[in-house]
Amino acid sequence: MSLVHALFDQADRAIGAHPASAVKRLTVRIGELAGVDCELFRTAFEGCREERGYGAATLETTLERAAWSCRACGAAVAPEGPLRCAACDGEARLAAGGELMLDRLELEVADV
Ligand SMILES: [Zn+2]
Repeated sequence: MSLVHALFDQADRAIGAHPASAVKRLTVRIGELAGVDCELFRTAFEGCREERGYGAATLETTLERAAWSCRACGAAVAPEGPLRCAACDGEARLAAGGELMLDRLELEVADV
């Protein structure tokens, strides 16, 4: 639930002066290691969108695969194995797939 509200907070900032009711579609990227259940997230979105003013918005989710890179040298690290850098034995850090992000907003802007 709180994730959905955080998403709408992000969207509020992103649309600036536009009314939330003009938002037609929200595209959200969900990392496979973000610990977010897509279906639960979708249900929470449906439950909150009216109260947040996004009554016209639909939700689109895309899954982002996890990717690791070396904390020391930045080289990509294979997700299998010990999660250490093959080049310098540095520690791996999660470079992608660890969070939920608002990717895109589509607005319907009325003609003046
Ligand atoms: Zn390295």
